[in-house]
Amino acid sequence: MKNPILADSGPAISGMDASLPLAIVPHDETSRDTMQAAPESCCAPANRLLAALPEADYQRLAPHLQPAFLHAGQVLFSSNAPGHGILFPSDGMVSVVLSSADGSEVETIPIGREGMVGRVAFILGDTPTFRQAMVQASGCGWRLPLEAVKKECEQGGPLCALLRDYLENLLITAGLIAVCKRRHQLEARLSHWLLFLSERMQLDDLPFGQEMIADLIAARASEVTVASGLLWREKLIRFNHNSVTLLDRQGLQRKACECSAILQSEQAQLFSNAAMRHAV
Ligand SMILES: [Zn+2]
Repeated sequence: MKNPILADSGPAISGMDASLPLAIVPHDETSRDTMQAAPESCCAPANRLLAALPEADYQRLAPHLQPAFLHAGQVLFSSNAPGHGILFPSDGMVSVVLSSADGSEVETIPIGREGMVGRVAFILGDTPTFRQAMVQASGCGWRLPLEAVKKECEQGGPLCALLRDYLENLLITAGLIAVCKRRHQLEARLSHWLLFLSERMQLDDLPFGQEMIADLIAARASEVTVASGLLWREKLIRFNHNSVTLLDRQGLQRKACECSAILQSEQAQLFSNAAMRHAV
């Protein structure tokens, strides 16, 4: 079920038409670093970074955006297979491993429609970058070839500033995830993560079993089972072997650690900064 509170519309896609050139690459076991093209009808342009661009700048990029379907388990890129563009998810969920400027890995971070993934360090300079990206929940997105990103940056378009701000936001998220793991109780962490995932995916029914949630929040599956049981007894969630449903968001917010509010605030700041930058 779509979360109506978070649903919003992205920019118009009048720049895209049936003749849009698609880089269609078959998805199979031997090419797992590729993004399979998807029909435009399956990809509502609901990515928030694209939506944050001024209309004229979005329309300049629109002819280069290619709809892509994301399969759960698909590796979009890794250290061995760099991939060929930036992906802006419209729905679904991608998890990434972020590496800092000195090459050390930081945290695994779920990314949905509020973000993007791609090997962009050589464009953006001394910033954190993505080491690996894997699709955790199937969905759609828009792929922007790196050539188009390079051209946009050379022309001083607002996309690069937005991507830099987003990468800084990801570093803050990574740091907070690390602190959360060490300092906060599992029931509070689980509540926070369920809200976090729900907001990024715009879903109340999350397609994740408890083992996958345990992986995402770096906890043992047995611990997640116990914490889920506590939340279930308070009628905050319902779960089965391959999904979990948020029944009471306010109740979960009361249970969640402060990381939930901090990340919401940081993300609001990111898009507020973008709006103010475009207003001047
Ligand atoms: Zn926390």
